[in-house]
Amino acid sequence: MRWSDFPKWGRYVADWAAEYHAGLRARPVRAQTKPGEIAAQLGAEAPEEGHPVEEVIADFERIVLPGITHWQHPRFFAYFPSNAAPASVLAEFFTTVMAPQCMLWQTSPAATEMETRVMDWLRHALGLPAPFHGVIQASASEATLAAVLTMREKALDWQGNAQGLSGQPRLRVYASEEVHTSIDRAIWIAGIGAENLVRIPTQGPLRGMDPAALDAAIKADLAAGHLPAGVIACTGGTGTGACDDISAVCDVAAAHGLYTHVDAAWAGSAMLCEEFRGLWEGVEKADSVVLNPHKWMGTQFDLSAHFVRAPEDLTRTLAIQPEYLKTHGADGIINYSEWSVPLGRRFRALKLWFLFRTYGLEGLRGRLRNHVQWSEELCERLRAAPGFEIVTEPVLSLFTFRYAPEGASDPDALNQRLVEAINDDGRIYLTQTRAEGQLVIRFQAGQFDCTREDVMMAHDVITEIATTLQES
Ligand SMILES: *Cc1c(COP(=O)(O)O)cnc(C)c1O
Repeated sequence: MRWSDFPKWGRYVADWAAEYHAGLRARPVRAQTKPGEIAAQLGAEAPEEGHPVEEVIADFERIVLPGITHWQHPRFFAYFPSNAAPASVLAEFFTTVMAPQCMLWQTSPAATEMETRVMDWLRHALGLPAPFHGVIQASASEATLAAVLTMREKALDWQGNAQGLSGQPRLRVYASEEVHTSIDRAIWIAGIGAENLVRIPTQGPLRGMDPAALDAAIKADLAAGHLPAGVIACTGGTGTGACDDISAVCDVAAAHGLYTHVDAAWAGSAMLCEEFRGLWEGVEKADSVVLNPHKWMGTQFDLSAHFVRAPEDLTRTLAIQPEYLKTHGADGIINYSEWSVPLGRRFRALKLWFLFRTYGLEGLRGRLRNHVQWSEELCERLRAAPGFEIVTEPVLSLFTFRYAPEGASDPDALNQRLVEAINDDGRIYLTQTRAEGQLVIRFQAGQFDCTREDVMMAHDVITEIATTLQES
């Protein structure tokens, strides 16, 4: 295939994309294939000779498509959303055609300068104050790793990269049980060790960490000769949307001189709406905040927004050439590869720019508000449905419920069967988690094109399938 063939196939994909989206509601949300079924059709060896593009595309549709779980399906209510608004897909098409590698300012000045600009737009739109500087990371996991490395280096007076951790006191990092597993992995990779991730008990309806317990844990570690390095708080934990009291947690951390990182990977997008910002009140006191516009806001995977109060701490930790520290900001040039773990960088800012410009902040806010409102409405309908109970109340558009009709002997097994039956049915897609020691079913709404009817259909599907289970 040559570039001269590209217009034909590029148009084919454009038409295919529109048809795919128009027909999504007719497809099962979760792939209905068995393990190995796709692999068996792909052939054991790479072909020696090239094949016509027609044939490859036909095989894509025949073999690959049935094995896709449709994350852009309007009735995708599992995990968290992973949106891909059409305007951002268009931007990604431009990006992928030019395919620039944007590690340094000079390797594509537009990428760097647009990144600075759109991240500042985003910062302002989220209500984060000016001391914060934004950088686009590939994932929240990478942003959290960068934050953990920064807290480690600060605590070690910048000697960790040079000397390693042997001979150092035990570094300690604090978080609740509700944080995402990416925090555990950042702790492992940073060499801090899982034993030194101290779990602080949670309290209250939002399952936030108890600030007094945090303070006591830090003091006990200091008394034991350990080296407290930082706190990782969450706004909108993955399981049930738990939210720490960011203000109180930051106050405790500040009293001990600790670095604070806030993981708002999912919930952060909702902060475009002022009325939701109470969930992360005090965030302006944090040192580092991450949210994923690739989840709820609408840019496709991957685009993670990382805001730091002191970029010089991040670059001091991650920049391979410390002389950049001296020029940072002074000559108007930023090399964003100095702000992240990988060296190479895609041109991700373009899709955020397209998203903001085509929908406007109001267009994005309207969607977020609808998702929250419809999810609350569904929650009330399920609360009223016979045999159903709400286990955790809505945090934005996320709540958990379970089906526990009177006399059910093993509700955990019953709910596991229910979620599997719902996903085999295919009209909606849900996942389970554990809350309050029970197996519960999660619901979140957040797909870009989802309507109120899509959300209400979840009520019908869930109650209908629950009834069939009860009879069996
Ligand atoms: C999804 C999620 C993550 C991980 O995000 P990635 O961008 O996939 O690394 C981390 N924390 C929370 C709270 C999440 O919801």
